[in-house]
Amino acid sequence: MAEPTQLAEVVSLTALTPHTTELVLRPVEAPLPFTPGQWISLQLPIGDHPPLNRAYSLAEPPTSTGHLTLVFDHVPGGKGSGYLSSLKPGDGIPLSGPYGHFVLPEPKTQHLLLIGRYSGLVPLRCMVRALAEQDTLPSTTLIAHAPTISEQLYHEEFTALAASHSNFKYLPFVSEAPDGHAGTVEVIKQLAGNGRRVTPMIAGIKSFARPLRSLLMELGFDRREVKLETYD
Ligand SMILES: Cc1cc2nc3c(=O)[nH]c(=O)nc-3n(C[C@H](O)[C@H](O)[C@H](O)COP(=O)(O)OP(=O)(O)OC[C@H]3O[C@@H](n4cnc5c(N)ncnc54)[C@H](O)[C@@H]3O)c2cc1C
Repeated sequence: MAEPTQLAEVVSLTALTPHTTELVLRPVEAPLPFTPGQWISLQLPIGDHPPLNRAYSLAEPPTSTGHLTLVFDHVPGGKGSGYLSSLKPGDGIPLSGPYGHFVLPEPKTQHLLLIGRYSGLVPLRCMVRALAEQDTLPSTTLIAHAPTISEQLYHEEFTALAASHSNFKYLPFVSEAPDGHAGTVEVIKQLAGNGRRVTPMIAGIKSFARPLRSLLMELGFDRREVKLETYD
């Protein structure tokens, strides 16, 4: 990680669902340009050997304010997410970045197949918002998994986007187990089977993301064609 560390100030914390929080940060020293899909590293002053480094994907495309919007889920007993939940506006937090190659393909693809579970939807949401804002959203299917109905991140926003953009399909699924892929498998086979060309991008914890990459490879995709962002 060669990017310099700088201090950021907490602007706000907002509950999005009962167990997820949006955290807005303002880099104090210099703007931090990034590409939707990338993440930043927070250096948290906790743990046995501080700092404890934790990665968080950017949830909003770059804005003129330079604010950075993150969303984290509250991991039971999780040191990093527990500390973030305790922050207050005005608190300082060192960060560095941006990092990562989980970004939209160039040249642009004909059909994007975005698949995320829970906070794994964060980088996908950032990409979709950037494309929609620039009016360059290609034909896109978003498969969004949540552990419960009340934890469906961005459900209203994606539903509204699908209503206003005929080329954006939003397919929400609820399954408590991360590997509860029933339903998703059929959708993926329909969209990506029989040599149909789609660009798959999957984000979430490994037990969710890896079986879906294997499925796509069984359908004929090369490992490198399936973009993956795993959180654990
Ligand atoms: C590139 C990258 C981007 C990430 N972006 C985000 C993001 O946008 N939002 C976000 O909430 N987290 C994100 N993470 C995960 C984040 O860095 C932390 O790992 C997470 O907040 C848990 O840290 P913790 O110290 O609270 O939990 P720990 O004490 O480290 O416990 C982790 C355990 O919790 C489980 N778990 C439940 N939810 C998560 C989760 N979201 N991530 C990791 N493990 C989880 C895992 O199975 C793991 O066993 C990202 C990770 C990477 C590598």
